[in-house]
Amino acid sequence: MKTTGSIAELRDWLAALPRPIGFVPTMGALHAGHMALVQRARAECATVVASLFVNPLQFGLNEDLAKYPRDLVGDRERFANAGVDVLFAPDEAVMYPPGFSTTVDTGAIGTKYEGAVRPTHFSGVTTVVAKLLTIVAPDILYVGQKDAQQTAVLRRMVTDLGFPVAVEIVETQREADELALSSRNAYLTPEQRAAAPSLHRALETLRDAVASGAKKNDAVVRARAALDPLGAPDYLDIVDADTFEPIDSVRAPAFVIGAVRFGTTRLLDNLWIRK
Ligand code: AMP
Repeated sequence: MKTTGSIAELRDWLAALPRPIGFVPTMGALHAGHMALVQRARAECATVVASLFVNPLQFGLNEDLAKYPRDLVGDRERFANAGVDVLFAPDEAVMYPPGFSTTVDTGAIGTKYEGAVRPTHFSGVTTVVAKLLTIVAPDILYVGQKDAQQTAVLRRMVTDLGFPVAVEIVETQREADELALSSRNAYLTPEQRAAAPSLHRALETLRDAVASGAKKNDAVVRARAALDPLGAPDYLDIVDADTFEPIDSVRAPAFVIGAVRFGTTRLLDNLWIRK
């Protein structure tokens, strides 16, 4: 696996590599969830490019940028072992040169749920991914279902700005007890870790209650009751998979979404209702 932090060098290498190019953007601290994206890209593409960049633009002022887990050596090894051809690991000055002031804003879809709690988050994500797509020019972008609203925001951006790339969503990878894999799980105390799988159970409760005829508000009350008392929900809801507008049924395509705080750690999860 070749690694570079230089845009010019990356472009030189990619010009000589076969298409299709599959691209997996990450912030590192790799786990089996990230690797599922790489494996899918490896199975479907002649060339696999990954990026590793902890994007300051998508962290709010009081968020965990400084303590976000970093393991460049371990991550390089994991990417190499999974068959990544080229790793792009730029410094901040490469992604955000002095005077950087351009951002990408996808409007309403990025203002609710995660966008309501983290007002600058999605413009940080779309800005960095727009720049990465311009640099890498992949044929297929691989993103995780785990960050469902992010998948909707990025699909919106790709359509609106006409990026010539297909977006593939890879199913959420989970621990044996159904807790979705996340770099932030490492912050949980043992008690919080034991309570965390109740988020997934709450989402199933919400889905099943609405599917069997309950009104959504009543179903949300039941879902909250399925949560461990250590978990404080920010939201539990059902949304259209494309627009992230709330809906009252579990018709496809939709996501049953939830965000719950366990102490200072905020966990996200969702169920994907597919056709
Ligand atoms: P991150 O490094 O957290 O920005 O994540 C990089 C990519 O991995 C994003 O597309 C995430 O949605 C995806 N991802 C993170 N966790 C999981 C998971 N448990 N299962 C599948 N994909 C995931």
